[in-house]
Amino acid sequence: MSVLEKERVEQNDPIAHLDFEPSEATQRALARHSIDHLDFPVDSQAIAISEAPEDCEIQQKAARFIGSVATSATFELKAHASRFNSLFEAMQAAYHGDPEALSLVRLNVKTDVVERTIKAGHVIEVAVNVGDNGVSHQSGQSMYSVQANALKFAAKTPQMRARTEAEVTNHFRLEHYQRTGMLEGHSFVVFSCAPDDMTAAEMKQAGFFTDTMSCSIQVTTVRNGKLVTESVFVAGIKQPGGTRHDIRAVRAIAQSFGVDFSNKSVTEMLNSPILVSNENIQNGGVDIAERFDIEVDADSGAGSRATFFGQDQKPKNYITYKTECREREAAFKPKVDAITNEIVRLYPQMRDEVHACQMLNEISGKHMIEQAIFDYSIDPQVFGYLSAEDIYRARRAMEAGEVERGLEYMYRAKQNDQSDSCPGGVSGRTSESRDDDESCTFVSKKCPKCGAKNVLTTVTATKIKGTCGCTASKSKSV
Ligand SMILES: [Zn+2]
Repeated sequence: MSVLEKERVEQNDPIAHLDFEPSEATQRALARHSIDHLDFPVDSQAIAISEAPEDCEIQQKAARFIGSVATSATFELKAHASRFNSLFEAMQAAYHGDPEALSLVRLNVKTDVVERTIKAGHVIEVAVNVGDNGVSHQSGQSMYSVQANALKFAAKTPQMRARTEAEVTNHFRLEHYQRTGMLEGHSFVVFSCAPDDMTAAEMKQAGFFTDTMSCSIQVTTVRNGKLVTESVFVAGIKQPGGTRHDIRAVRAIAQSFGVDFSNKSVTEMLNSPILVSNENIQNGGVDIAERFDIEVDADSGAGSRATFFGQDQKPKNYITYKTECREREAAFKPKVDAITNEIVRLYPQMRDEVHACQMLNEISGKHMIEQAIFDYSIDPQVFGYLSAEDIYRARRAMEAGEVERGLEYMYRAKQNDQSDSCPGGVSGRTSESRDDDESCTFVSKKCPKCGAKNVLTTVTATKIKGTCGCTASKSKSV
């Protein structure tokens, strides 16, 4: 780094981070170079990116970025910004009535709600927007600012640090292959298993849900001209405390693509994305989920198929299951809207980016506990052992029509919420506000009176009311 560059970093000049933006001519040359050199080896269907000739350069760029984050006191990347540099900025604009900002906040809330409550057996699709400068944005935030915040706040232990650095490097790799056009026709696939170098307690602390030891497989490609990431969540164990099957399955999948993962640790696998020709995974992420399940079954010696998304379930049709996942997400919409409105209304209380994340985490957790009391498809354990006990009690009380008692259990469950949507996230409770709202809202799949679907329903000690307009007094359900 030159003296001038160093000064820029020290002065936290945003331009200081821009040395990884090559000129257009260099980009074209790099693109040609990578296509020349990335011929698929004869016997393999995929390319191990970390072994590609240009990966060294990409890793160096990532390392410079990681270093620059470490040296800057407050991280900002105005030059890379999408319209909003962070979720915090989007919340501010949404508070002042900006509709685009509001939809970005809502997208963040939706992802949070899904990842918080559905730990395995799910595929979620997120569009990644690429700006004119070739920089990717997700949910309206520059990926650089997302990554910088993860490095600064989430990587609290050496193990989490190594994972976060691998994820940052993967973003540089992804951007490289997006720029060179490789992702039109290929998928960039990342295997993110739960850590194999942490104790269960350390994992819980870092926000992993150890009851499922879920593995997230991210599949990114260009579809209809748009960069899209599918995150596939498969269980790494079949029951809490069971033997992990995910690491062997991922190694076998890599093997089937002609890539050797046999001696890699979980963090090394995370740091070894592969490029798979879309002809080999025509249905995208679910094709990899299916390979995963086949490997788990083969490994267990089961004569027939007994695994679905890593879970102890008879396999369903993987392609139509995608539709089921989308319907599940659609059912959460009234809750997503309620959380979005609440978080935007609270914007004036937020101190900074981290505080904004903590508040979202907390509000979303409270709302989803309310949902879990009536929505039995949510495993109460995702909120932690203590909350789960009270959620079961609240369910029983509500079923018996003892609404007041149910609300009391709900309040206790909220106080002990341990759920988290982001492993290693910035979470931590702010918990200064007692939620004195004596009501509870949940999405009712169908109103028993008028038949309206996905109705946001409010339950108080004396009354039950749906957004469809139906009301009932103190009975079991609307
Ligand atoms: Zn109704």
